[in-house]
Amino acid sequence: MSRPFEANEGGEFQSPALERLVRSLARLPGLGRKSATRIALHLIAEEVAAEDLLSAANEAAEKVTNCSNCGAITEPDPCRICQSDRRDPTQLCIVASPVDILPFEKAGFFQGRYFVLGSLLSPLDGVRAADLPFDRLRERIAHDSVSEVIIALDSSVEGETTALYVQQMLEGGPVKMTRLATGIPVGGALAYTDEVTLQRAFLGRRSF
Ligand SMILES: [Zn+2]
Repeated sequence: MSRPFEANEGGEFQSPALERLVRSLARLPGLGRKSATRIALHLIAEEVAAEDLLSAANEAAEKVTNCSNCGAITEPDPCRICQSDRRDPTQLCIVASPVDILPFEKAGFFQGRYFVLGSLLSPLDGVRAADLPFDRLRERIAHDSVSEVIIALDSSVEGETTALYVQQMLEGGPVKMTRLATGIPVGGALAYTDEVTLQRAFLGRRSF
């Protein structure tokens, strides 16, 4: 009789179905094989939970997209921020990732709009200017008559390199460029910055 939960010498489960489930869960960010196994066993035991999770994941994958205008994660495209006439299109906040928009929206003080770069320049990792949507950024600035570009990138080497690139892109033009004051942690942590710190960094923003 086969014993699906029994693992072989390599630590793999004898049941190919269970092994496959554990492996796909372990590929999720933040989950190691141990947590993946715990979740897999829970899902097998609770059939309803498994069905719920699958249908939620399918529905989200089908409906959730990136705003074609700003890159935010959204269901309607363009997103509600881009559609709202209460948001000032002339103030454009540049962020690296769609999750970086969340602390701004949660805090609620920023009334402009966003532009998501999707990544930061990192010549050492082979991420060059041609890989980032700078052309779309240029078009957006011209189309919306943007008067201020606010750089909200973290202060890592990649963040600084990217900020410098945008600065050179706008140099000599009419667009004012500012950046958040210090206080934002280094290394992609903007999304986890608390509202008070973020607002203080925004109000204290300075010109390049
Ligand atoms: Zn948008």
